[in-house]
Amino acid sequence: MAVPRLYKTEAVIIRQRKFGEADRILTLLTPAFGKIEAKARGVRKTTSRMSGHLQPLNRCMIQLARGRMTDVIAGCETLESFHRLREDLDRLSESLYVAELVERMLPERVPNYPSYRLLLDTLRRLEQGDGREIALRYFEIRLLDQGGFRPELEQCVGCGKQIEAESHFFAPRAGGVTCPACAPDSGGARSLTLNGLKVLRQLQREPYNKNARLRLDAPLAQELERHLRSYVVCVLERDVNSAAFIDRLRRESQLTPAEV
Ligand SMILES: [Zn+2]
Repeated sequence: MAVPRLYKTEAVIIRQRKFGEADRILTLLTPAFGKIEAKARGVRKTTSRMSGHLQPLNRCMIQLARGRMTDVIAGCETLESFHRLREDLDRLSESLYVAELVERMLPERVPNYPSYRLLLDTLRRLEQGDGREIALRYFEIRLLDQGGFRPELEQCVGCGKQIEAESHFFAPRAGGVTCPACAPDSGGARSLTLNGLKVLRQLQREPYNKNARLRLDAPLAQELERHLRSYVVCVLERDVNSAAFIDRLRRESQLTPAEV
């Protein structure tokens, strides 16, 4: 029998599911290997010493043994447990949404350090608590970018014309903003306010510290959430396994499949 090759990595646990009698399969986001799956043996037994460490959202140092199908967790140690996120239901559900979006959007075993950094920064921002709305919108727009789904915010996705500060639309199915003339032909286009366009552009162009002080009134916050959620839904619809997640997002933001 070949000796298993051991390796160590830092990771954030972004998903867990039951496997067999007492095991779990964990999805990990790592700084150097991207998203990977690993088996945690016996972790559902009460005697497991690892179960306390291997909770979703935990940042851990994990030792893995390469397996034929799935790598197996040989040891782990919690580095950051985000316990304040777990004490507040709103923050917890926002954080789980963030983790799930990472899980759905990134391919397996493709190194993506920026996304690891973004996930960690976002969890810390949500834990700190102020400006969570901005932290979430910034996260969505950056993750879309890093996943290869950058929304177009400068030129009309229909005719290529530069978007003027007048009347504009956001068309998730078409991949970004449209001019008024192209909106009817871009399935699902909804009107986008001038402030909405400005904030989306700023989130896309500027680093977080330039965005952190933005304060959105409730209608603007809702508008941005709706536009970005609808875009996320369009991106994920290509992945059949995301159906339940998409249904939830739709319910949460009262999206209908098409508006125009
Ligand atoms: Zn156009």
